[in-house]
Amino acid sequence: MGSQPGMPIALRSIHSSSCRRASEEGLQLNEKTALYDIVIVGGGVAGTALACALASNPVLRDNRVALVEAMDLTSTIEWSPVKESYSNRVVSLTPGSMNFFERMGVVEHMNLSRVHGYGDMEVWDGVTDARIKFDTSLLGSKKDTSKESIAYMVENIHLQNAMLKRIRECNTRGAQVDILQKARVASIGNEQSSTEFDVSDWPSVKLESGDVLQTRLLIGADGVNSPVRNHANIESLGWDYDTHGVVATLKLDDSRPNNTAWQRFLPTGPIAMLPLSEGYASLVWSTKPEIAKILKGVSSDDFCKLVNAAFRMSTIDLNYLYEYTWREEVANKSKSTIEVWQREESLPPAVVSIQDKSRASFPLRMRNSERYVADRVALVGDAAHAIHPLAGQGLNQGMLDVACLSKVLEKGTLEGQDIGKLNLLRDYAAERYGRNIVMLSACDKMHRLFGTDVAPVTWIRSLGLSAVNSSDSLKAEIMKYAMGVESSR
Ligand SMILES: Cc1cc2nc3c(=O)[nH]c(=O)nc-3n(C[C@H](O)[C@H](O)[C@H](O)COP(=O)(O)OP(=O)(O)OC[C@H]3O[C@@H](n4cnc5c(N)ncnc54)[C@H](O)[C@@H]3O)c2cc1C
Repeated sequence: MGSQPGMPIALRSIHSSSCRRASEEGLQLNEKTALYDIVIVGGGVAGTALACALASNPVLRDNRVALVEAMDLTSTIEWSPVKESYSNRVVSLTPGSMNFFERMGVVEHMNLSRVHGYGDMEVWDGVTDARIKFDTSLLGSKKDTSKESIAYMVENIHLQNAMLKRIRECNTRGAQVDILQKARVASIGNEQSSTEFDVSDWPSVKLESGDVLQTRLLIGADGVNSPVRNHANIESLGWDYDTHGVVATLKLDDSRPNNTAWQRFLPTGPIAMLPLSEGYASLVWSTKPEIAKILKGVSSDDFCKLVNAAFRMSTIDLNYLYEYTWREEVANKSKSTIEVWQREESLPPAVVSIQDKSRASFPLRMRNSERYVADRVALVGDAAHAIHPLAGQGLNQGMLDVACLSKVLEKGTLEGQDIGKLNLLRDYAAERYGRNIVMLSACDKMHRLFGTDVAPVTWIRSLGLSAVNSSDSLKAEIMKYAMGVESSR
């Protein structure tokens, strides 16, 4: 049975209408080369989500898909929650992203005791103390609030574990996603294969093992240094912030409820505490690389003191605090002062300890690819764009990419188009490019606006924050946008 390039149907259907694997149907071109409809490079959250979206979609599940990941996924596949112990790689998912996971059938495989929704958020200026409070009651209608949480805290490994389970389930129902782990891509090119149908313009992905995957559509979900993006000669534009994000899992004083996300903007960068469960929170402290180094090097006790102080002390005192003698002084402050700190409702619960080995740091940057698509190539997630984590939007943008790309591929399939062709892929780029730029530039401007303690700027931003805080309707609009509520419909 022959086939032409650009045939709209999935490889499996080309060779047989039965439900047998494509490789069994002769799509193993030779000992080393296999043909796929879609190869996804990168089994991080974005790549795994795309594999899941394809496998769970009745129109797309006939495609033969390979998910190629360099890392060993054993611990992800075997993950199960350990009480009072949390991974330090956590994301705040918008209700829009959660709805997407629900539609793909992933939520059924999640352990909901490890998904913590929060309904309040307090954001304030560390220099002027001007503050904005958000809570879901501002949205009025319960329909919009999507279970009345602003966002949901989930460990990345938990999300991936649930998606891999869902892919396995879909495979038992006819989908065919091959998960290739410990499979690093060595090079990508275009190689002529000796096959009965012409696949000469299909990218071929060579793995370090020597195996070659030739594909109708190549997806780059391979993170900020994307090899797929390099193969497609797509430039990544942007800059590095002179800032690192320090993360850690915190144990809190549990006499206070833990349903609020707290973020204080310091001139060195924002510090955020996000609730994981009663008594536990995730820290994301964006700061100068030299301060990040101190934060990672100090004892656990000193680290807790520094976090508590960063939410409470003046920015001038904080500059001294990074020195050891100053930390001692904070520790020796009268017990009564510390008790007052702990009781203050406008401040987060005090940190009492940090989870062992949970401290890590990541360089922060702003990137946007010059294009998201090329012929037979599309980029999603951090391969396409990277954002400052101050609004917790990076992966949420990635999920919107995945939802949009699968919708475009579904439309192309129903119309009988070749899913690798640029004409079709352009619909994906057209929808996502502008929207991602709006979010990237909003977060970049916030980072710059708050990254100074120069007086005229601090007055203006303080006025701005107070003005927004006094307008419930404006706050509701900001919340809806950040929650992805509109886009989830
Ligand atoms: C401190 C911090 C806090 C954050 N908080 C939030 C938040 O609250 N909410 C939010 O939405 N986002 C947040 N983000 C952003 C979010 O973590 C990222 O956007 C997201 O993890 C990117 O996922 P990805 O799958 O696109 O890329 P990655 O996670 O980078 O995955 C890429 C994958 O590709 C694989 N790969 C790379 N090269 C190869 C190769 N040659 N061969 C095979 N495989 C390869 C890698 O091994 C990796 O698994 C945060 C980021 C940081 C740094």
